[in-house]
Amino acid sequence: MSTPPPLAGGAQGPDALRPLLSAALDALRTGATARGGPLPAGGPTAVAARVREAAGEILPARGEGCEPALRTLVHALAEGAADPADALCAAHLHCPPLALAVAADLAASALNPSMDSWDQAPAASEVETLVTRALAAEAYGTGRGDALVTTGGTESNQLALLLARERTAAHGPVQLVVGENAHHSLGRAAWLLGMPEPVTVPAPAGVLDPAALDEALSHLTGPPGTFLVSATAGTTDAGLIDPLDQVADLCARHGARLHIDAAYGGPLLFSDVRRALVHGMERADSVTFDLHKLGWQPVAAGLLLVRDGDDLAALGHHADYLNAGDDTEAGLPDLLGRSLRTTRRPDVLKIAVTLKALGRQGIGALVDQVCAQAQEFAALVAAHPGFELYDRPVISTVLFRPVGADDDHIAYVRRELLGQGRAVLGRARIDGRRWLKATLLNPHTRPGDLAELLKLVEGTTPR
Ligand SMILES: *Cc1c(COP(=O)(O)O)cnc(C)c1O
Repeated sequence: MSTPPPLAGGAQGPDALRPLLSAALDALRTGATARGGPLPAGGPTAVAARVREAAGEILPARGEGCEPALRTLVHALAEGAADPADALCAAHLHCPPLALAVAADLAASALNPSMDSWDQAPAASEVETLVTRALAAEAYGTGRGDALVTTGGTESNQLALLLARERTAAHGPVQLVVGENAHHSLGRAAWLLGMPEPVTVPAPAGVLDPAALDEALSHLTGPPGTFLVSATAGTTDAGLIDPLDQVADLCARHGARLHIDAAYGGPLLFSDVRRALVHGMERADSVTFDLHKLGWQPVAAGLLLVRDGDDLAALGHHADYLNAGDDTEAGLPDLLGRSLRTTRRPDVLKIAVTLKALGRQGIGALVDQVCAQAQEFAALVAAHPGFELYDRPVISTVLFRPVGADDDHIAYVRRELLGQGRAVLGRARIDGRRWLKATLLNPHTRPGDLAELLKLVEGTTPR
C-alpha cells in the first residue's frame, strides 16, 4: 500500500509544507508575471478557456501528484486573477491582503482549529475571546460590549436583525427601517428571517435624511420597542456616512433599536484623524465590521459588535456532543452560541496577528493613506476638463465620469478596460446617473498609478 500524502500539522507538518509552499509561491509569482496587469485579458470566454486548458482533467482516475497539481492550478488561478494588489484593480471593497495576515491564515489552516467546541480549539478560542473583547472595547469603550466573528458584512447584518428580532419578540415582530442607500444584504436578511418588508427612507444626497427618518418613525404603527433602524457608515456605492449622531437621537426619541452597518467605515475608528467621522457609532446596539475591506485581511474577516453582550444569549444552543451541560459546568467554554455556524474557521488568528503587529497606529496609518489617495485622485479628476467628479470622497471611494458621457458610455468604458485586462473599475448609480467608481484600498498605490488610471479611462471611447 502506498503512503498517504503528508499532513500539515504536528512537529513534522512544516517539513512537509515547506517544499509545497515553495512550489505554491513560485506559481503565484509565475502566474502574476504571466498576467502582467490587474486582471487577465480577453474577458470571460478567453479566461475560462485558458483555465480549462491548464486544468485538464480535474478528477483523473490516477492523480497527477501533489507538486504538479499545485503548480498548475495555482499558476492558472494567479494568471487569471483580478489582483487587488495591482493599483489599477480598484472596483470593489476588495482589498489586497497583507502578507502578514496571509501567513497567519496559513498557520490557521495547518492547525485547523474548529471554533464550535473547546476540545477542537483550546487556544484559538481564547485568542477569539481576546480579539472580540478588544474590538468591542474599541467601539464601545469598557462596558458590556462583546463581538462575534462572522464571514463578513452579510452575515453580520443577518445576525444583527436576528438579535433585534429575538430582543423584541415579546412585543411583536421587529420592523426594519433602512435608508435607500443601505446595503442589499439588509433587505435580504429581513426576508430570510421572515420579518415584515423593510420601510425604506429616502437618502437624497446619498445619506439617510434625518427629517425623512423622523417622519417614517412617526408613522410606524407597530408596538413600541419593535422598530430597528439600520444606518450605514460607509455606503458601498459612494463611501458616504449617514449622520450617525442625528440618527441615534431619533432612535432614542422614538424608542427604536439602532444597528450601524460599518462594513466599510468601521476601521476609521483606528485613525486619530478620521475617528470623528464615525462619532455616534458607539450609540448603536450593534455594529457590522468587515476587516476584509479596510482591514487588509484575506476573506473572511467579519465581525458583529454588540453594545450589550447579553443580546448574544439569543444564540445559545445545545448539542450534547459539543457543549454538554456537565462539560460546561466543569469549566469547558461553551462556544456553540458564538455563531449560527457549527464547524468554523479560526479567522480570528490573522486578525489578532495584524492588530498586534501594526497596532492601532499602524492600521490607522493605512486607513489614512488610502483616504489620502482618494483625495488625490479626486483632485486629479476635478482638475481635468474632460471629467466630472461626483464629490470629494469621505472615505476612499471616488465617483467620476467623462464630461458629456451617457450611461451606456460609462458601462462601455468599464467593460472595455476589463476585457483588455488594463483596469478594474466599478460602477454605481447615484442621483439617477451612472458613474465610474474607484475604490482605493491599496496603501502601496502611487500618484503615478492614479494618473495612469485616469489616462486609461480618457483613452477609452466607444467605437
Ligand atoms: C461589503 C458590505 C456588506 C457586505 O459584506 P460582505 O463581507 O460582502 O458580506 C454590507 N454592508 C456594506 C455597507 C458593505 O460595504
